[in-house]
Amino acid sequence: MFKEETISLFRTIPTPFYYYDMELLAATLSECSKEAEKYGYLLHYALKANSNPEILAMISSTGYGADCVSGNEIKAALTNGFNPGRIMFSGVGKSDDEITLALQLRIQSINVESRQEMEVINALAGAMGLTADISLRIIPNVDARTHRYITTGLEENKFGILPWDFDEVLEKLKTLGNLRLKGLHFHIGSQITDLDVFKSLCHRVNDINGWFMTNQVFPEIINVGGGLGIDYRDPDRNGIPDFSSYFRIFSDFIELQGNQQLHFEPGRALVGQCGSLITKVLFVKKGISTRFAIVDAGMNDLIRPALYQSYHRIENLTSGEKPEKYDVVGPICESSDCFGKAVTLPLTNRGDLLAIRSVGAYGQTMASRYNLRDLAKAFYSSPTRS
Ligand SMILES: *Cc1c(COP(=O)(O)O)cnc(C)c1O
Repeated sequence: MFKEETISLFRTIPTPFYYYDMELLAATLSECSKEAEKYGYLLHYALKANSNPEILAMISSTGYGADCVSGNEIKAALTNGFNPGRIMFSGVGKSDDEITLALQLRIQSINVESRQEMEVINALAGAMGLTADISLRIIPNVDARTHRYITTGLEENKFGILPWDFDEVLEKLKTLGNLRLKGLHFHIGSQITDLDVFKSLCHRVNDINGWFMTNQVFPEIINVGGGLGIDYRDPDRNGIPDFSSYFRIFSDFIELQGNQQLHFEPGRALVGQCGSLITKVLFVKKGISTRFAIVDAGMNDLIRPALYQSYHRIENLTSGEKPEKYDVVGPICESSDCFGKAVTLPLTNRGDLLAIRSVGAYGQTMASRYNLRDLAKAFYSSPTRS
């Protein structure tokens, strides 16, 4: 929901652009920290959801660590105030340069996804005369019940180490003198709205953690990843995810041993609702069954509908006339360049401004220059920013 003065401001900014509600972001961050603190859980923000500098600065200053999936994300985390000792590095394909960077910076943990990667990190750390702190990313085989492209915790997925390889992994660890095992890492997918999925994750983590204990391995950190979903249908009613129920599930079902710490890596849940893509209607044209509202934002600015068939709420900010149905489409030469089909909007005309809601996560970070379009800029609700 946008105030009249915000809409007036939007009329003065060249479209399309991302608009970030920094007050909502601040409120979301503090709610999440407050709920996590009740149980002493630690939070690392997953930068790939949104690595916009203003957003990173706010998140780091609120006391979050960082979960990075590339060397450039590690650099962005550092530049924007995250402490290297609270940076985790995940990813199924880390290059030697990226691993070297992580080692040089002595980040908190490199999350290792294969036996071969263990050998490579061991060799690189040895050459630098260091011991690398690592966690094992494990495939817990828990179905996230989300879109298959954002499911990462099943046996057929490319991420992590399979339980039947644990024996060999432990044998290998004994021979690799430049590695120190700090933790176990799990991340089963994204946009998870069925909290029972996290209950299943807890049970699997307990089993796996128990297996390591019986084998005389005591990981300090149990990292259960991110994945908490947001309400794309009703962003105004559910602007802040239900962090209270989320953390309570873990507190009820996870069995930590000794002084093991529980870590989380939320991405979408923190930043998803604070962003909107503001776009202008270029043309309205009648198709066979619906009208097309052709807007100046494209799938290069927001690829989620094309990539995951995802729903985003769309609002017309400048018309209040009687509703009609529209297919809201972008200018890109692809039929998948469609933000919503048969969307009910007030009578829409050339020049109207539309808001595509809940684009704070995996919106701007997935932008491309396809069709040689310019990258859309970002604007922030805080009056000191532009
Ligand atoms: C993407 C990712 C996350 C964040 O996922 P969200 O669904 O955005 O919370 C956390 N951890 C890892 C390892 C990831 O790759």
